[in-house]
Amino acid sequence: MINETLPKEEISKTKRQMIFKKVYGTLLGVAYGDAMGMPTSLMNPIMIRKMFPERITQLLPAPIGHVIHNGMKAGQITDDTQQTLLLVDLFLEEKKFTKEGVAKKLLKWAKSLNAFETLILGPSSLRALKMIDSGVSIDEAGWMGDTNGAAMKISPAGIVNPGDYDAVVKDVAEICIPTHNTNIAIAGASAVACAVSAGMVSENLETIIDAFMYGAEEGMKLGNQWYGASIIKRAEHALGIIRSGKSEEEIWQDLYDYIGAGVAMSESVPLALALVVYYDGDPLKTIEAAANLGGDCDTIGAIAGSIAGAFSGSDVFPNEIIERLSKVNNIDLKNYAERLTEILVSK
Ligand SMILES: [Mg+2]
Repeated sequence: MINETLPKEEISKTKRQMIFKKVYGTLLGVAYGDAMGMPTSLMNPIMIRKMFPERITQLLPAPIGHVIHNGMKAGQITDDTQQTLLLVDLFLEEKKFTKEGVAKKLLKWAKSLNAFETLILGPSSLRALKMIDSGVSIDEAGWMGDTNGAAMKISPAGIVNPGDYDAVVKDVAEICIPTHNTNIAIAGASAVACAVSAGMVSENLETIIDAFMYGAEEGMKLGNQWYGASIIKRAEHALGIIRSGKSEEEIWQDLYDYIGAGVAMSESVPLALALVVYYDGDPLKTIEAAANLGGDCDTIGAIAGSIAGAFSGSDVFPNEIIERLSKVNNIDLKNYAERLTEILVSK
């Protein structure tokens, strides 16, 4: 907390530093979660134990022949971080999120990676971006987008609206229009972005949970009516599992079996919240669990990492990890965080 007896310039310096750490922590959480989960993505727990007999505790390359990440190096990020940074770029350029801006950025990025011919994109983004590219309107393209691609990239909506959950949901709905314009996707993405928004201003995990539930409830009222299990009820069930008193590995298995770790919004998003809460908001432990647990590991790592990273701030990330992520991917997350902080403090 800021000491109010400090001189005014010292208060603003301290405030700026606090905001910076939260923003930087969120972006580091996304990138580290994505890169840690990259090697085990789309594997079930049995496949993971067979391929990695020892628990994964560090950044590793993709195993040879990996179904979508073959050839990727230790510490390499995937579409989760890339799309998150596209949204940051958009906000830095326009100071707001617009559906046109989101569609333009995503389409340009997808084409630059030849993503229509590869397995880089998730199912909703692939379908919608192909439609937009063929001339379908942005407002129509995302009509059945219901998977977790909306949540993996959404943390910037939480970063730029600290503690203002209604503003978060509004931004999430706009961002989701081109690719994930369904109530279930907007609910899942709003839950994550509201949890990030809460983490920007709170050091209380209950506040994070409440914000997550609020986002899920409000997001469910928006977008095209679609189907999917309740994010709120799944999240409540997932929180029950982590409080069952079972061992860590039994809890992982129960989460995998009862909540699910697939690309569906109602699986990966409640699971991510449960991991954050189980590890008391520690992004390193949360992300390690996501990488070992199975399923859509990179995306679950990125989502859970964004919430835990906002909650804990950047100080908990070891320099070695920060340097590896920066070097392997040639990205400067610190610079992104500094530029976002400038906008936030001048608001
Ligand atoms: Mg990915």
